[in-house]
Amino acid sequence: KKSGKLSICVFGASGDLAKKKVYPAIFSLFYDGHLPDDFVVFGYARSNMSNDEFKDRIRSSLPCRISAAKDCDVKVEKFLTRCFYTAGQYDDPEDYKSLDVAMAEQEQALWGDKKTLRLFYLSIPPSIFVPVAQNAARHVSSKSGETRVIVEKPFGRDLESSRALTEALAQDLAEEHTYRIDHYLGKELIENLTVLRFSNIVFQPLWSRTYIRNVQINFSENFGTEGRGGYFDNYGIVRDVIQNHLLQILALFAMEEPASLDAEDIRDEKVKVIRSIRPIDMDNVVLGQYKGKRDGDGVLPGYLDDDTVPPGSRCPTFAAMALFIDNARWDGVPFLIKAGKALHKRQAEIRVQFHHSPGNLYKKQLGNREENSNELVFRIQPDEGIYLNINSKIPGLGMRLDQTDLDLQYKTKYSGGALPDAYERLILDVVQGDKRLFIRNDELEAAWKLFTPMLDRIEEDEIAPELYPYGSRGPIGAHYLASRWNVRWGDTME
Ligand code: NAP
Repeated sequence: KKSGKLSICVFGASGDLAKKKVYPAIFSLFYDGHLPDDFVVFGYARSNMSNDEFKDRIRSSLPCRISAAKDCDVKVEKFLTRCFYTAGQYDDPEDYKSLDVAMAEQEQALWGDKKTLRLFYLSIPPSIFVPVAQNAARHVSSKSGETRVIVEKPFGRDLESSRALTEALAQDLAEEHTYRIDHYLGKELIENLTVLRFSNIVFQPLWSRTYIRNVQINFSENFGTEGRGGYFDNYGIVRDVIQNHLLQILALFAMEEPASLDAEDIRDEKVKVIRSIRPIDMDNVVLGQYKGKRDGDGVLPGYLDDDTVPPGSRCPTFAAMALFIDNARWDGVPFLIKAGKALHKRQAEIRVQFHHSPGNLYKKQLGNREENSNELVFRIQPDEGIYLNINSKIPGLGMRLDQTDLDLQYKTKYSGGALPDAYERLILDVVQGDKRLFIRNDELEAAWKLFTPMLDRIEEDEIAPELYPYGSRGPIGAHYLASRWNVRWGDTME
């Protein structure tokens, strides 16, 4: 798979994502020997920069998997000899033609006329997705091989705008060549979710309403918008995290077994389960916004204290909701989703709470408490791990019971070094033409169909979010929502 000739071009190369994630991921792939020997990496943006300035800019962010590795600096410099920068406008075809010439020159010098895969990473704001995709496809596509384009979120802000974006992109890009990236799908634990489910007899039969009482998908950040409120305020937490990342996790968790591991088979099952989700009832939604909090001598700023946020904004920085999948497997099982900024910790996890053991002989010793049923937790980040809470006897005379964990902590079990970043896995998938972890257009459409009516209601009815202090566990309403479905948030029981 390593053979082939590869030209990557990052559009928006001067930006934050390119520096923080895209170039480091490409470098790590190079460092670990996953890129073909014949590759070049271009950057394109409006900013004027020489090649050297561009290299200096990305040099500082390139990581080595094992930071003490002796050959790291040598590899960085070798990688940078393959990096080039071209400045241009995003809407001027002539500038794209110049980029095409510059790329062809390097390709020619390195490997002659051989068939070349060109990969474009659109690391740009959504307002310019369409002109950049169109111009790149029209003027910079590979003449000898395939062209694949990675598109970053947000894919629209509702059903209508998402459809318009899909249609505009489709004029120049075949769906087959469009890779909508959702970096959550590149996370180690998410890949393991389907392995655990479909290749373990002990879990496979449990995966339904018969044994599962509820499923919780929690996402929390322990920081606020911190100066990026301008972008965020236009989207809010539901569009930013739930409609994409958390819904994708839910789909992978709840889908039926695909016919194979082929991308189309997996995505067929994901789209089916998203379409089976019942329309969202506003009574099952809690919205929140963080407010400032005194912290020692200082103050942790509220959302509205961020200068980039419009005064009086009602944009939710927290949302919790109960979703239901109307199919035979999941009938009646609440899927509780919770996501928020400026909470007490940074964490993402899936919690699966099982039914109580019927006729439990040890009811008395267990104290008959609901938390004494089994719980399976996938900790997506940080400290990746999977653990299963079980009831167990405390060693010694007598019969005292305790809850303990069957515990797989990645740090201790797989101590061979840092895990690959999600972007690394996903960019490698694009190089290899593997679309399993990318969002297909019908999935996107189904996701927006589910969330758009709710988002419209929030805006039309000007629903005021419940305020919660910076650094707290979120609005109290989230607990009422859970208890309405006879559930306790697992993360608050720890
Ligand atoms: P960014 O830094 O704001 O923009 C990338 C580059 O695009 C800038 O360096 C700038 O380059 C150009 N640009 C910025 N605003 C522009 C405008 N109004 N018109 C034309 N060009 C403009 O964006 P980013 O944070 O790297 O994010 C890129 C994409 O990834 C976005 O779609 C974002 O939603 C998505 N994303 C970002 C993150 C993240 O952590 N940053 C995470 C997930 C997804 P020049 O001025 O040099 O042309």
